[in-house]
Amino acid sequence: MTAPDSHQRAAESFSAYVEGELAPAERARLDEHLATCMQCRVSLERFRRTVGRLGALKRTAPGDFLAGVQAQINRRSRGRFFGKRYLLFGRIPFEWLSLAMIVAMLVYYIVVLQTSPTGVVPGK
Ligand SMILES: [Zn+2]
Repeated sequence: MTAPDSHQRAAESFSAYVEGELAPAERARLDEHLATCMQCRVSLERFRRTVGRLGALKRTAPGDFLAGVQAQINRRSRGRFFGKRYLLFGRIPFEWLSLAMIVAMLVYYIVVLQTSPTGVVPGK
């Protein structure tokens, strides 16, 4: 029989287990659990495939590896992912926004100047 929390404890040991960094007693305990627990064997296999490869990659990757990958994704996705987060101007180029503001201000001034050239509404 396995205790209810033993799956959790086993899962927490997966990383050290895969890396071969688990203490012999811990390792034996995990082996014992895995021998009786199909669920955790499947989890461990999944863990090995995904995290195991990432771990091997991380050991040989330079320090700026993650930043480099993110920058590459950013380029290939044309800025949709991992871009600098301008919350208000996310997708709109700032130049276009500035141009729109200038045009809006020009229109506003032209309208105001034409309806009231002196800034004072003519009395009757
Ligand atoms: Zn289990």
